[in-house]
Amino acid sequence: MNMITNHLPTAELQALDAAHHMHPFTDANGLAAKGARVITRGKGVWLTDSEGNQIIDGMAGLWCVNVGYGRKSLAEVAARQMEELAYYNTFFQTTHVPAIALAAKIAELAPGDLNHVFFAGSGSEANDTNIRLVRRYWDIKGKPWRKTVIARWNGYHGSTMGGGSLGGMKPIHAHGGKIEGIEHIDQPYWWGEGGDMTEDEFGLARARQLEEKILQIGPDNVAAFIGEPVQGAGGVIIPPRTYWPEIQRICDEYGILLIADEVITGFGRTGNWFGSQTFGIRPHIMTIAKGLSSGYQPIGGSIVCDEVARTVAEGGEFFHGYTYSGHPVAAAVALENLRILQEEHIIEHVRDVAHPYLQERWSALADHPLVGEAKLVGLMGSIALTPNKATRAKFAGEQGTVGFRCRERCFANNLIMRHVGDRMIIAPPLVITPEEIDVLIARARTSLDECYAGLKADGLL
Ligand code: PMP
Repeated sequence: MNMITNHLPTAELQALDAAHHMHPFTDANGLAAKGARVITRGKGVWLTDSEGNQIIDGMAGLWCVNVGYGRKSLAEVAARQMEELAYYNTFFQTTHVPAIALAAKIAELAPGDLNHVFFAGSGSEANDTNIRLVRRYWDIKGKPWRKTVIARWNGYHGSTMGGGSLGGMKPIHAHGGKIEGIEHIDQPYWWGEGGDMTEDEFGLARARQLEEKILQIGPDNVAAFIGEPVQGAGGVIIPPRTYWPEIQRICDEYGILLIADEVITGFGRTGNWFGSQTFGIRPHIMTIAKGLSSGYQPIGGSIVCDEVARTVAEGGEFFHGYTYSGHPVAAAVALENLRILQEEHIIEHVRDVAHPYLQERWSALADHPLVGEAKLVGLMGSIALTPNKATRAKFAGEQGTVGFRCRERCFANNLIMRHVGDRMIIAPPLVITPEEIDVLIARARTSLDECYAGLKADGLL
């Protein structure tokens, strides 16, 4: 076989891709028929594809490239660490400097007494750790029956068996099943499900479903509640302001461990280091991944509070871990990424510059005839596509058809904006500048216009 490089014609790369590469969350035959877009380079917020198109990445890869693409110091740190110590495990009473330094740095950045880190290779793995960790915690507390974890429908916590079961996405459950002891309550999605309630009323009502579920299962059987501060993969659902304080009250009242899945919201995405700070949540455990290394290396983990870490330690050996827990190259790169976030004041940039600028322009999209609401927290935003803003109506037919059409227009206009059902979502690299925000918004508006015209032409509006 010839060397496979960027220099092969796109069609050849696409044919090889279709023949041998099984893509995640993809209809393989549908993709093979049209050919995957081949991404070849990245710099800042910009991607280049094999046809030479310059694409603005409104999704930071998969919500992860917080410091932007093409950072030389991250490559240098990786190369240096590979030469010095490419791998060693942390299982058998050994450790290494990158894992020590990263754990200490995360403990410094995390709020409250979240002072301990259990490393994983991804967000999904970290959530699997969390299930075992909270169940083990209650075992040691003398309540081994306390196993149930409550999560939300349309939440996303990964796609391992544990992560996929915590997530509330039925199509994922349908492929391979669901582990036992996970229960779901409804999501705080006011625009889609709030009916006649005000946002505040609805936020309280949805939070109180947690209390109802706890009472139904029996408080003494519930190990933990898990939620994303802002649902990401579910469509960037920003909860009503009443929601998290009520969830916190309920967890406190029933002594239930609270897990904040910060895989997307961590490391600056909402304008603070963690989404829990933006929403006033005091979790016992945080799930982290993505922005921890800005996607330059696969790494995730669980940040654990003093009391849970102490209890688990009292129980002797915790039979759990991954070959790549605290991988030295990934840890060294993550540490350098945190240095960049901190020293370049990127979180302040989100809070003081990029968010306010994008907020103004993003919310102006609500004037568009297709757009029902345009929401943004920090640098994660969503717009709801609707045939009737006044009634917050859904499109007839299968949900997501219009969203997909809109995403296709974005793709054609060299903007990466994703769709979840009929919501369009963005989460650009945190380093995006006001000028780049102008480009993003201009391309989004053109795409919405074209989508609107196409729907009219096809008689769907
Ligand atoms: N939790 C959340 C909130 C996520 O958004 C994701 C990934 N999108 C995960 C967990 C899973 O992370 P990974 O894909 O790294 O396993």
